[in-house]
Amino acid sequence: MAAVPPGLTGRIAVYDAPGRPFEVRSFPVRPARPGEVLVKIRMSTICRSDIHSYLGHRPSPRPGVLGHEIIGHIVELGAGVTRDMRGEPLAAGDRITWSEYFIPGPSYFTEVLDLPQKSPGVDKYGHMAATTPPHHHGGFGEYCYVLPQSWILKIPAELSDEEATPVNCGVATMMCATERAEIGMGESVVVQGLGLLGLYGAAIAKARGARLVVGLDTVAARRAMSADFGVDVALDPGAMDDAALVAKVRSLCRPDGADAVLEVCGSPEAIPAGIAFLRTGGRYALAGVVNPDSFVRIDANQVLRKLLTLRGVHNYHPRNLVEALDFVHANRKRFPFHALVDGKYGLDEVDRAMRDAGERRVLRAAIVP
Ligand SMILES: [Zn+2]
Repeated sequence: MAAVPPGLTGRIAVYDAPGRPFEVRSFPVRPARPGEVLVKIRMSTICRSDIHSYLGHRPSPRPGVLGHEIIGHIVELGAGVTRDMRGEPLAAGDRITWSEYFIPGPSYFTEVLDLPQKSPGVDKYGHMAATTPPHHHGGFGEYCYVLPQSWILKIPAELSDEEATPVNCGVATMMCATERAEIGMGESVVVQGLGLLGLYGAAIAKARGARLVVGLDTVAARRAMSADFGVDVALDPGAMDDAALVAKVRSLCRPDGADAVLEVCGSPEAIPAGIAFLRTGGRYALAGVVNPDSFVRIDANQVLRKLLTLRGVHNYHPRNLVEALDFVHANRKRFPFHALVDGKYGLDEVDRAMRDAGERRVLRAAIVP
């Protein structure tokens, strides 16, 4: 029997304008073409950037299909796709994760700069109109085509769907951010924002050898939860002014301030304090300020005098995807990653899921088609 019978369709939750209700519509499913993999989706989690797209904070083609943190089972392999990134053979039925982006092919960015994730023409899952063939290229649906020039990994059997789904965005992004912040043995690290990224960031910082992780978030429930993910001291930045916060953090990160700061709160206003937390020679990775026009006024003289390094994180290198999966697999008993996906919704409940995620009632909402 053909893997994809003629006339097969798959349902997708689409929206027609920013903030408008989702509607489940059916679109045709065709066999996988060369270089593609057709996947039956098991789970897709709602990332903060899905919410930004949905609310129109950044351009997103419509009718929109969102979702890029996706896992699923292989239905059909297109010609030429035989192995995953590690060289493991792929077969129908395998549960896989894949890079949140795909690229047009080799370029100066892949061959010279080693920045494939920023290749001209890079596109992301959950960022195209549902009317654009092959229609199924987002997470909030029954099927997804993994398109050519994506990076694929088989998921170890022991990992639950809840542990595996955030790997290809949340975890891989923080693998990249902690790499860019050069977090090393015995260091003190400040994490600005204890949402999903911040909690993974704290856990990865500890695994990279940090001695002290200070977490900042205005939400009490997140601060309470953060101890399970490696945060030693959680502070409420809303409870004191910036000067008091800087003094408090610097007194914790002896002798001269934090070795590294990770910004995952998405608030440009938090950046001057982030710079002030750092010791001389410290490193600052920005991973949360994803929206255009994130203007902020900083004292550039402080960057100069303190010999600071500022680094941006957008998309991640494909190697970070391998590291992310290995990290979650190796540390699943040390950190309760399964608890981070704390809400499940059907394909016809995407509106409620987006609302709960947007209003921070859940940490990671999962769509299970
Ligand atoms: Zn994401």
